[in-house]
Amino acid sequence: MYGPGDVRVENVPDPTLQQPTDALVRVVRSCVCGSDLHPYHSMPASAEGRPMGHEFIGVVEETGSAVSAVKAGDFVIAPFAFFDNTCEFCREGRTTNCLHGGFFSTAQAEAVRVPQADGTLVPAPVGEDSALLPSLLTLSDVLITGHHAAVTAGVSARTSVTVVGDGAVGLLAVLAAKRLGAEQIVLMGRHKTRTDLGREFGATDVVAERGEEGIAKVRELTGGHGTHTVLECVGHLPASEQAYGVVRAGGVISRVGVPQYEDAPTGMGTLWGRNVTLTGGPGAQRPYIEELLPDVLEGRIEPGKVFDRTVDLDGVPDGYRDMDAREALKVLVRP
Ligand SMILES: [Zn+2]
Repeated sequence: MYGPGDVRVENVPDPTLQQPTDALVRVVRSCVCGSDLHPYHSMPASAEGRPMGHEFIGVVEETGSAVSAVKAGDFVIAPFAFFDNTCEFCREGRTTNCLHGGFFSTAQAEAVRVPQADGTLVPAPVGEDSALLPSLLTLSDVLITGHHAAVTAGVSARTSVTVVGDGAVGLLAVLAAKRLGAEQIVLMGRHKTRTDLGREFGATDVVAERGEEGIAKVRELTGGHGTHTVLECVGHLPASEQAYGVVRAGGVISRVGVPQYEDAPTGMGTLWGRNVTLTGGPGAQRPYIEELLPDVLEGRIEPGKVFDRTVDLDGVPDGYRDMDAREALKVLVRP
């Protein structure tokens, strides 16, 4: 990506092993993320450009001498962050805060160098032609991110839920909330084909209105008080304000949309006065993949339904344009 709206497909040197803990993974499927659209709008124009992509599944081609948990030929899921899975934060399940970790940024490509391969890569017993590939790819980001929103908000059978945002993460936050037992799930979104999929994933109510009108509608659906939990899956300040408006007193807001702001209100009229807890963050926690993988493999959930368009590498610039124009919900990349 060279600047707003400027995505080019180029040949670059193949990645190589650099550390004994690295693996090389040939990408079988990647995709374009809603968070990739933030720089697509606002990155400063750059002569060098920057590589893009942080979601991928693929086959291990080569491993460094210190790698023992995966081997050449293994089909693997890579979360959007890499981590050793052994440091004190990883042992607490907070793998995105690994002391030796970082985030992938070159996955819209044919191959990726994976640091900390033993900790990062999760093997999956499937072939490259598996019909499950789209759903497995959601374990790289959008499903585990939606699940992180639901888990950190404390969603359970006893909590009502509002999901703000009808992008892939929002829709899979609905799926995750349903999976955790929530009975009332209000989805705030205004694109009917998306909210229809949200209903299929478990949304009980859809609110298309925004701002004060949207807040009033959610309150009307919840006895005037709002929901116990709010999963904010957008990242822009208006979505955050929407969350403040629909959370019940004593409730929890979890933000998983990458925030495009640093300052937001937390005072008397918003969080403090109503005893509201704010949580959330990056959701690439390895335990989530291990928890959700059996549900995908055994067909209990089908998160891959969020992909509504497939492109090859040359089609990636079109994929960005279509997602940005809301003509595609989520674009699968097949290198
Ligand atoms: Zn770690």
